[in-house]
Amino acid sequence: MEQKSLSEIAKRVLQLMHILPPSESDGPRLPPFLDRCAQCNKQLSNRAPIYMYGDLQGFCSPGCRNLRIDLDEEKAKANKSSQRTRRS
Ligand SMILES: [Zn+2]
Repeated sequence: MEQKSLSEIAKRVLQLMHILPPSESDGPRLPPFLDRCAQCNKQLSNRAPIYMYGDLQGFCSPGCRNLRIDLDEEKAKANKSSQRTRRS
């Protein structure tokens, strides 16, 4: 019987999701995609809060994140309206 228990699978997933290695002297290292703010390119610190959004994007502040969300919504709207016009 090789059926894995749910807790075994959950444990494996948690291990895979553990992208932040245990802290060394300098504190936890940030993964490369969280190195800089995806909006203003400011260096992110592992001591300051990081604001996450979308495909593993990190932002230095809610303002930067909101800017990106606004841009994405504009894009989505543009896509929708272009699809609509194509239909007629
Ligand atoms: Zn920023």
